[in-house]
Amino acid sequence: MNISEKEIEGIVRQVVEGLSAAPAPADGTVINGKKYLGVFENMEDAIDAAYKAQKILYDISLERREEMIASIRRHILEEAEIMAKLGVEETGMGRVADKILKHRYVAWKTPGTEDLKTEAISGDKGLTLYELGPFGVIGAITPSTNPSETVLCNTIGMIAGGNTVVFNPHPGAVMTSLYAVDLLNRAIQEVGGPANLAVSVAKPTMKTNDVMVKSPKVKMLVCTGGPGVVKAMLSSGKKAIGAGAGNPPVIVDDTADIEKAGKCIIDGCCFDNNLPCTAEKEVFAFANIADELIYYMMQNGAYLIDRDQMERLEKVVLVEKDGKYCINKKWVGKDAKKILHEIGIEVGDEVRCIICEAQFEDHFVQIELMMPILAIVRVADIDTAISMAVKAEHGLRHTAHMHSKNIDNLTRFAREVETTIFVKNAPSYAALGVGSEGHCTFTIAGPTGEGLTSAKSFTRRRKCTMVDSFRIV
Ligand code: NAD
Repeated sequence: MNISEKEIEGIVRQVVEGLSAAPAPADGTVINGKKYLGVFENMEDAIDAAYKAQKILYDISLERREEMIASIRRHILEEAEIMAKLGVEETGMGRVADKILKHRYVAWKTPGTEDLKTEAISGDKGLTLYELGPFGVIGAITPSTNPSETVLCNTIGMIAGGNTVVFNPHPGAVMTSLYAVDLLNRAIQEVGGPANLAVSVAKPTMKTNDVMVKSPKVKMLVCTGGPGVVKAMLSSGKKAIGAGAGNPPVIVDDTADIEKAGKCIIDGCCFDNNLPCTAEKEVFAFANIADELIYYMMQNGAYLIDRDQMERLEKVVLVEKDGKYCINKKWVGKDAKKILHEIGIEVGDEVRCIICEAQFEDHFVQIELMMPILAIVRVADIDTAISMAVKAEHGLRHTAHMHSKNIDNLTRFAREVETTIFVKNAPSYAALGVGSEGHCTFTIAGPTGEGLTSAKSFTRRRKCTMVDSFRIV
């Protein structure tokens, strides 16, 4: 299917207009004249549909599951631009070109059934198999920062594992997320697969979330979002995978290729306007290379502001709540140019990132901003760099980055920071599989330890043993 630019604009307009339209029940739900397969008016119906669908999926062969997944991959590639534009238009966050790339990587590098490896042990007493089986219906909470990407990536892994999934997507990205649920159902049914392997509700709220979490038919929860929601899910009493917030630090020492480091850091930090939880959030640079690093950052689209401008910017992008500073959500994922305008600085589209020199205690170092703003702290040596970077990561065990050719420094930081992901000498998007080896995921489970989730993360390990037979050697 080739979709023209005009058709894409038409679809995006129709879906976004659906934001204010009342849903009407149908086979799927009709919102603003467009039918969304797999979308229900209430959560109970969505769960029931996913429950019935899982019974069907359980009997479907791995080969057929792969055909359905292949169809999903094709549809994602065909409709990546629509979802990227929708995501930016609905949430007001991120960059279309980067979101297109994120969707492509979901299609290309999210593992399917090949991820499910059976283990066999044979000995004097016979043969034992360990196989990875489904949980059943999974309840998934998805963020506004990678909405359709997370819905699609989660579903590929979950149905590969034999599960069906009910989404309670972020209300701020509902139409983008429902578009993805509809795409999944269209893609699966196109190759003769069952309806409702992935479902959702037309109006997700905290109440629908509560129904999903408490339903006895939902056997596992997968939560991708900020600290509040992850904590809530982990106290649900169910098996839960929690993929929470990060504040990835970057260390640049004086053995690094500084020109490359400057470009990599800006490329990674600006990717989708810093929305990925893996993106560079603050830099600790050796003092003897800091000026050179800043120079190369500026050669690659960074705009340097001084301390006075930084303090003015803090008043724009941060708010005080109960005596604590946190992000002003209005500025999350916005273009650097728009943010700079707020403090009276006018720049062109070539400016992708705002950089500033900061002290360790500064808010821009300590708070996960999710904006193309990058604070740089000068450090005297590797001991100071590691100590500060570990503290700035706040024990979240999410992601850290380093540019260095000193293997001792690289190893020390990786060991001390204990993050799920550690990227060396590359932009942060290498963490997601972009331009690097390894698979793609948008659910990185630090708190519960699954790490970069894939099909096997959504399975139960089961044992089947045959005693005294089937050993053939
Ligand atoms: P968010 O925490 O605002 O919302 C996530 C989802 O949780 C939404 O669906 C929201 O409606 C729901 N929610 C919020 N509080 C809840 C509660 N107490 N109980 C039940 N549901 C609740 O997330 P966001 O702003 O869309 O995403 C940004 C955050 O998510 C950042 O902190 C980012 O680092 C993190 N994130 C982490 C990963 C990862 O893989 N570890 C991936 C993407 C985003």
